[in-house]
Amino acid sequence: MVTADTFSIKVQKTSNSRLSELDFNHLSFGKTFADHMFISDYQDGHWIDSQILPYGSLTMSPANSALHYGQSIFEGMKAYKNDKGEVSLFRPLENQKRINISAERMCMPSIPEELFMDALKQLIKLDKGWVPSNDGASLYIRPFLFATDEFIGVRPSDTYKFMIITSPGGAYYSEPVKVLIETNFIRAVEGGVGFTKCSGNYGRSLFPTKLAQQRGYQQIMWTDARNHRYLEESGTMNLMFVIDDVLITPALGDTILAGITRDSVITLARDWKMKVQERKISIDEVIDAHKRGVLDEAFGTGTAATIADISTIGFEGKDYVLPEVKERIFSNRVAQELNNIKRGKVEDKHNWMYKIG
Ligand SMILES: *Cc1c(COP(=O)(O)O)cnc(C)c1O
Repeated sequence: MVTADTFSIKVQKTSNSRLSELDFNHLSFGKTFADHMFISDYQDGHWIDSQILPYGSLTMSPANSALHYGQSIFEGMKAYKNDKGEVSLFRPLENQKRINISAERMCMPSIPEELFMDALKQLIKLDKGWVPSNDGASLYIRPFLFATDEFIGVRPSDTYKFMIITSPGGAYYSEPVKVLIETNFIRAVEGGVGFTKCSGNYGRSLFPTKLAQQRGYQQIMWTDARNHRYLEESGTMNLMFVIDDVLITPALGDTILAGITRDSVITLARDWKMKVQERKISIDEVIDAHKRGVLDEAFGTGTAATIADISTIGFEGKDYVLPEVKERIFSNRVAQELNNIKRGKVEDKHNWMYKIG
């Protein structure tokens, strides 16, 4: 007989809330953490000791195998508060599915839907006071899973920790970014791990990004590993173009991360009867569209910024300047619509919002 694990979560509340010290008008991203965190241990094939605890440090062995061999994956999502003070998450079941796609590729155990969702619900409910209500602000949620075996041989760990921490963040506004097309370093390769949110993908991107920044760009536009001919992602965001009124984005595959924002933007574009193409898009095609004056928009999509407009694309010593952001009909409309859905200001036709408590 197969018995399903049940996940009772023990809760230890802080006696020392830091919430009153939080200045909701000056939130910076990723530096302040809410009062509590979730933690669960994987041992002998089961998730045990699921707990919500006061946020704090971990102690671990210096031989922790995640530190040495990188069995470490994460997710990123946000909780929003509407004008009635109700808290909702944006498409959290998609994050649950995706962490398990990453886990499989990295030879890690999967996290059952019930554990993932119960942990999220209880943690966010308890730290509800940390969810900002000002427009554009949110509580960033970081679920992560890492190996914990004390062993420096190379093999999959037998033990793991699944944790969730949260961090309040203000309205994310970024100036339109200058991006450099990268034709030397690569982010992802066919057969590799580019479609996962494994920590190594981010570590490897820092050096090429630093070099681009030294040349006056903020981000890199990654190209395919084989020929450096096709555009793939921008920084840690999915990449989209509007050319001649058609929304074009690279098709999903080994080298493209299946962004939830990407999927949401495509869904809204189709709702609005816009033509959408998921396919390869080459550097030549983008530069040609720029020359013909039909490269209307280029932007990245991701949970942190939702939409990050690209102002300039650098390639082979030339800068290709795009139209002013205020002239960009689609990216402005889709950013506004997503914000309205998240804040409960328009009908949630696709049932994307998941209410907490
Ligand atoms: C997380 C991530 C994205 C965006 O995914 P969202 O679900 O939209 O936040 C895009 N590319 C990479 C490489 C990522 O890690």
